[in-house]
Amino acid sequence: MISVCRVLTARGTPRIGAAFIRTAFNGWCTARRFQGRAGCLLGCGRGNDSIEHYSDCATYHSFCRQHAGLAAPAAEDRLACFLNLGHSTLIRRDAGCSRERATMLRALTVYAAYRVQASVRSGSLQVAEAAGALPAMLREGARGHPALESLLRVARRRQREQ
Ligand SMILES: [Zn+2]
Repeated sequence: MISVCRVLTARGTPRIGAAFIRTAFNGWCTARRFQGRAGCLLGCGRGNDSIEHYSDCATYHSFCRQHAGLAAPAAEDRLACFLNLGHSTLIRRDAGCSRERATMLRALTVYAAYRVQASVRSGSLQVAEAAGALPAMLREGARGHPALESLLRVARRRQREQ
């Protein structure tokens, strides 16, 4: 966790770091955290409103693959990857996809998921709009930070070349 904090501090932005800390310490306002029950707010229709589910959510992983070039990790690694406490797996492993880049991409996707989940929970987004809002929130996470914007551009280009 210290090494992820170091990468996020050096390469990320305060909003990305804050989302990482909130996620790692179960700080999302989910129904499960408040002993309630609700369906997945990202709209997959199959899970509940909990960090455990979001780490395994088909909507989240589809978004990661298409917009950040991140493949879904093996089922047993998904929660650790979502918390950014395990390794992140890129679809295409090469010299340009270092572990540090994978960590940043994963942190950006979790930031997007966190923001969209919070927006649906607060009522400013509908569940049906959640999947479509994830890419915009990803760009918002990187906005004004040239290294992160470039990271996303490269990831999208790689994904298109697959
Ligand atoms: Zn879901």
